[in-house]
Amino acid sequence: MATAIATKRCTVCGVTRPLTDFSNHRGRRDGLTSRCRACNAAHCRAWYHRKQQETAGLYSTYVAMKGRCHVPSHEHFALYGGRGITVCAEWRDSFDSFREWANRSGYVPGLQIDRIDNSKGYCPENCRFVTAAQNCQNKRARTRTIRTYTKLETAQVREVRSLLAGGLSQRVIAQRMKVSPSAIGSIKTRRTWRDVA
Ligand SMILES: [Zn+2]
Repeated sequence: MATAIATKRCTVCGVTRPLTDFSNHRGRRDGLTSRCRACNAAHCRAWYHRKQQETAGLYSTYVAMKGRCHVPSHEHFALYGGRGITVCAEWRDSFDSFREWANRSGYVPGLQIDRIDNSKGYCPENCRFVTAAQNCQNKRARTRTIRTYTKLETAQVREVRSLLAGGLSQRVIAQRMKVSPSAIGSIKTRRTWRDVA
């Protein structure tokens, strides 16, 4: 029988290599990793990169959430902190605590944080992760709800029409009249208030 040089087949590249091409791994029966050194290095780089990206995405979610609620100079503070929406102390004090909750709650990069009850703050019981599309849908539903409570008077609708005729943008008019831009759009296209000249 020929003297066999001790070799092992890498589970990734499939190449049979001398044992010196494999790193030590105490958890394995033969004491070596299943991937060769080159494949293992590539695997670790990819894993590290993925983790870094996940953390980066979640960390920016975290920073933005705290900013909206607790930094008065944040551009959206008025809609959050200004309305009493806060981040719970546990999360505010520790990104690790937020990250642990996020990972338990099915966070994957790309998802957005959403408050289940819009009148309550950011805390484990009131938050979940949703896709951007779901978040958008929720916002639209909220806008619709708000709109039913924001009633324009005939005189205001006339004003909207004259502002539109004057070339003001729907967004600016919406801000001035305290209604959603789409409400102004509906007036413009006469989907609503058709009877008002
Ligand atoms: Zn390999």
